[in-house]
Amino acid sequence: MDTASKLDILARDAQYDLSCACSTKRPEEHRKRTDSGSWLYPVTVASGGSGIMLKTLMSNMCTNDCKYCPLRECNDTSRISLQPEELARFFMQLQAQRNLIGIFLSSGVIGSPDKTMDRLVATAQLLRKQYRYRGYIHIKMIPGASHAAMDAALSLASAVSLNIETPGAAHCAKLSGAKDYEKDIIGGLTYISEKTAPASPYARVNKTSQFIVGASDESDKEILAYTWGMYRRLDFDRLYYSAYQAGLGDPSIPGERHQMPSVLPSDMLPLAELRMPQGNPAILMREHRLYQADFLFRQYGFTYGDLFFDHGGNLDLSVDPKLMWAQRNPDRFPVSLSRASKEDLLRVPGIGPVMAKKIVAHRKHTPISSLESLRLPEYLLERAKPYLVLH
Ligand code: SF4
Repeated sequence: MDTASKLDILARDAQYDLSCACSTKRPEEHRKRTDSGSWLYPVTVASGGSGIMLKTLMSNMCTNDCKYCPLRECNDTSRISLQPEELARFFMQLQAQRNLIGIFLSSGVIGSPDKTMDRLVATAQLLRKQYRYRGYIHIKMIPGASHAAMDAALSLASAVSLNIETPGAAHCAKLSGAKDYEKDIIGGLTYISEKTAPASPYARVNKTSQFIVGASDESDKEILAYTWGMYRRLDFDRLYYSAYQAGLGDPSIPGERHQMPSVLPSDMLPLAELRMPQGNPAILMREHRLYQADFLFRQYGFTYGDLFFDHGGNLDLSVDPKLMWAQRNPDRFPVSLSRASKEDLLRVPGIGPVMAKKIVAHRKHTPISSLESLRLPEYLLERAKPYLVLH
């Protein structure tokens, strides 16, 4: 099998990992094929900027048994691998033709975590040293990798990820008998956090992680408690949420998901316009609500304590979590458009970070004469109106 044919399979199998920020507002454009048949992914990288990335596994063999994963050892699927030189050479050729933004390197576990990391690192090393590639390289850390292997990856990568998958050891144990949650996952995440702390040698390296949503009986409350901790204590740059869907990886099952989620903050997209990918709508809406809560942490100044959960510990699927907060905190409204701080404006449903900044900048020079003068889209204006006064 030639390299392009192998990549056709391996890049397709890499689609389930969202940790490299692969996303687009148009699900049908979530991935593209080149003339030679390779899959390429539109991305927004954590350090800023967007473009097209080659995202691939180096091997879809795996000795692990994660129940949610189509590549688990017991699954009957064709198994192939790429050698580091083969992949590095192919990427550089593609890079010359397509001006790619970078490469995302991941792999199933071949033998041991460190042996697998050796291949990922060898590929990155060839790109950096032999081909003098200075662009974006994202390396997926394999759970259970040694500190030496992670150090080698950190020295070459622009970004790394280690997927947390579940909120806690008990949920992990339901899905995998091979992973030691505390040592392989929490230990790895903590080590990455320490090595990329400000003023450390690898401070420039972005770090991301991903939850699989709905594969065990975890609640949103548990997922978001871990999310909050990873942002606050471990200083991660981004968390991703991937809705589990039975039959993933089996193209003969109609429910298989082929697109990534629309990753959008709550103030940018009305529910009616949500572009839902194929699959179970409830689990995809759950995933969307988790993204909205995540945006509230990162861009709106919300804390974990600001979220409301139902008796089962889940976010309400029918109301966006920011609107829910506003409904439960009537004493915080209405907010004055003329005097409110940016932080208070950000609590108003319908007003996002861009609009809050614009309002504060605008009123320094010109008094705001009416809500309509903000030129909010109609659906956002309707959402914001009950919570605002002019003075
Ligand atoms: S270790 Fe990764 S590739 Fe292997 S079964 Fe688990 S999730 Fe899939």
